[in-house]
Amino acid sequence: MITVEELVVRYGSATALDGVELQVGAGEMVALVGPNGAGKSTLVDTLSGVVRPASGRVATEGRFAHVPEGRQLFGDLSVEDNLRLGAWRVRDRDPRHVYGVLPDLEGLRGRRAGALSGGQQQMVAVGRALMGRPDVLAVDELSLGLAPKIVDDLVRHLVRLNREEGMAVLLIEQNARLAFEVCSRAYVLEAGRVVAAGACDELARGSAVARAYLGGG
Ligand code: ATP
Repeated sequence: MITVEELVVRYGSATALDGVELQVGAGEMVALVGPNGAGKSTLVDTLSGVVRPASGRVATEGRFAHVPEGRQLFGDLSVEDNLRLGAWRVRDRDPRHVYGVLPDLEGLRGRRAGALSGGQQQMVAVGRALMGRPDVLAVDELSLGLAPKIVDDLVRHLVRLNREEGMAVLLIEQNARLAFEVCSRAYVLEAGRVVAAGACDELARGSAVARAYLGGG
């Protein structure tokens, strides 16, 4: 569903991604972890076409949606209007199927997005991405600034969509422990390069990744 080959992205003279290879297959839930500034957001911005590669190839299959870092909601608009904005490319602007997946949003539909808690806003951002009924969803820093219980809740919704509806997920997270709990495979990005990739349980047993990202080893 996502193919990234020999991807190089530069901002002026700075190289943000340097030969990145990554795949997400149909029905997979894959983690992309790494420290601040590693290039994670750049990768997903390239997938969504916001950033142009200097060289290499990115491709997505089916409908692709992206929950951006920092949510990027329209704070003065209602929850429902924010959801409808997620549907600008498809004919179906009816948010009812999103309320079916994230029932808490229905009760908030008339509220101003900017007045919601961080967790509620993140739920709106996920709901907005789901409006287009994506086959593959990239989620950038779901957990940032949110309490663990709220993050758990949101992640459970993503896991359910993955398991029950086969939606492929690329979970981009600084919180590797969380990402490894729910994903089957992971890529570790450091300074624009993939430094480790493989099954989460195997990476968690490998001491370097475990020490650096999981607080173990
Ligand atoms: P974070 O979690 O902090 O967002 P990240 O892993 O997503 O980190 P990126 O935001 O992709 O990393 O940044 C990768 C590198 O590219 C960093 O060195 C960053 O400073 C640089 N960078 C990102 N966006 C731009 C830009 N618009 N112009 C110049 N440099 C940029």
